[in-house]
Amino acid sequence: MKKLSLVVPVYFEEDCIGQYLKETIPVLENIPNIDWEIVFIDDGSKDRTQEIIKEKAASESRIKLLEFSYNQGKQAAVSAGIRYASGDYLLYMDPDLQDPPDEIPKFVEKIQEGYDLVFGIRKEKIDSLLNKFFSAIFWGTLNKFTGLEIPKGLAVMRIFSRRFADQFLLYSEQNRFIEGIFIHIGMNRTEIEVSQRKRFAGKSKFNFRRKMRLAFDAIFDFSELPLKLAVNLGVSLSLLGVLSFLGIAFAKLFLFNFSAGWPSLFSAIVLSLGLQLFFLGIAAIYIGKIYKESKGRPLYSIKSFTNL
Ligand code: UDP
Ligand code: MG
Repeated sequence: MKKLSLVVPVYFEEDCIGQYLKETIPVLENIPNIDWEIVFIDDGSKDRTQEIIKEKAASESRIKLLEFSYNQGKQAAVSAGIRYASGDYLLYMDPDLQDPPDEIPKFVEKIQEGYDLVFGIRKEKIDSLLNKFFSAIFWGTLNKFTGLEIPKGLAVMRIFSRRFADQFLLYSEQNRFIEGIFIHIGMNRTEIEVSQRKRFAGKSKFNFRRKMRLAFDAIFDFSELPLKLAVNLGVSLSLLGVLSFLGIAFAKLFLFNFSAGWPSLFSAIVLSLGLQLFFLGIAAIYIGKIYKESKGRPLYSIKSFTNL
């Protein structure tokens, strides 16, 4: 019998867990020939999230919990979950029921056709127009910058094989953009459509600022384009500088007598200073990332295990 592990990061989800388990367990019990476990990773919640999960885990040993010692981010939580899940298939989902549990059997069926990764794609996205607009920009730029070709309208829910999970665990980077790594692994992959619901309770933890940070991180983690941009623009500007110098010299020597005055000088200085700082900043971002990698700290710190 094959085993399915659900990997579920939770952070301040006390209002969702109960309903999540109520809907999910019957679905799991009804999948033919599949054993299951649910691995919750608590990412440092300070509400009753852990308490509720532990209560459930006391009477059901297939409900498992990793507790992070403090909030270390969803990417770390998912990574830890994948590390400790023992299934032949691993399915990653959130407990907020945006991706409904009744879709799980479809994923299990699909992966048993022999794929290593099955992405869920949202049939329609339930989100505000503004959010949709920003995510379109985000995924668009990301694909342009990284060349990763991440599918459009990615849902959270996805299932992958043991082989795929083992490969994932070989990625040791501290700066981790999980969608990028998933594509980079590059095994046999397909997509299925999933329906969407509204978040069952609580609020999204990813406000606009956090989303933008994620977007920038993703670009800097998977692309060297910003660095190349600096070189290209630097070369172009230098050429432009040389040309304009030659032009001025030519005009002054052969055409007419003129003086451009300090305002144009001032703007040229400000422009070049600004550009220098901008690209210095880009280089600094990469240096910061290198610094973080070079320390080689553990990816997460777990303070306790339940049923694991
Ligand atoms: N999450 C987490 N650590 C964090 C923030 C969020 O583990 O620092 C979890 C959260 O509990 C949820 C998932 O990541 O299960 C996605 O978060 P959310 O639903 O708030 O984001 P959205 O679906 O709105 O993008
Ligand atoms: Mg959500």
